[in-house]
Amino acid sequence: MAIDPVCNMEVDEETAPGHTTYDGQDFYFCSLTCQQKFEHDPGQFIDTQAA
Ligand SMILES: [Zn+2]
Repeated sequence: MAIDPVCNMEVDEETAPGHTTYDGQDFYFCSLTCQQKFEHDPGQFIDTQAA
């Protein structure tokens, strides 16, 4: 399982409606809406200090 960084829902990598890579990491989303929010402003949703 992966965590949708936008809404913090658990999503299955195999069936996730949305997927993108950012800064070398894979991110999965529960919906295209969450993916679009993430791609609009990735820095809002990821903890850059953890990378
Ligand atoms: Zn979501």
